[in-house]
Amino acid sequence: MGNALIVGNWKMNGLSASLAEIAAMAAARNDLWVAPPFTLIAGAVAAAQGRLRVGGQDCHSRPNGAHTGCVSAAMLADLGAGFVIVGHSERRTDNGETDTDVRAKALAGRAAGLDVIVCVGETEGQRDAGEVEAVVGRQLAGSLPDATDGLIIAYEPVWAIGTGRTPTPEDVTAVHGFIRAQLLARFGDAGQGVRILYGGSVKPDNAALLLGQPDVGGALVGGASLTAASLLAIAAAAA
Ligand code: PEP
Repeated sequence: MGNALIVGNWKMNGLSASLAEIAAMAAARNDLWVAPPFTLIAGAVAAAQGRLRVGGQDCHSRPNGAHTGCVSAAMLADLGAGFVIVGHSERRTDNGETDTDVRAKALAGRAAGLDVIVCVGETEGQRDAGEVEAVVGRQLAGSLPDATDGLIIAYEPVWAIGTGRTPTPEDVTAVHGFIRAQLLARFGDAGQGVRILYGGSVKPDNAALLLGQPDVGGALVGGASLTAASLLAIAAAAA
């Protein structure tokens, strides 16, 4: 588990008062990554004082242009963000993002110099139908950029996000092993260096178990990342 990477995804949560949580996280550790909403990125970068990596939860695939309401990867980088999450299941579902869209966003993130976390994961129905490898394999094939530099994968079973339910450690091991095999097949030895995060209802009390599984290089944390106390407890459990 050693150097597990713990990444918080605040989703559409947080007002300026929440920056105190960022400051508290940064005061306690210098290895956490947090993706607040776009509105808080500049404030989070300032509050983190260089001790916490701030990222975006999404970006547009184009660097600029007539795309009302959208934010480009270059804009995130300009604010001091160091990474971007792409292909989160909430964006795939709520915004109809396809693997092709996700790949374009991943390429845009890399072009802007950001590390990119590409999310994949099956729905409950797909798991029940025995389609986990088919679904995750298809998402990987369609969503990833062409090189492993700055690339991180997050395996997030959709049915585990925000539900308090998690896969068994054996199931996590199986899917992470499958993802590793896909990475090796596509990228050769470089695929070994890609970190694979687990995401979906990670809490302080289950972090050690989930993060202790083979090929789990860290966690993408939603609800439990909103307070410093909770995210720090997860990071401590992962140590
Ligand atoms: C997420 O949104 O990426 C996530 C894993 O959420 P939660 O931890 O709340 O399940």
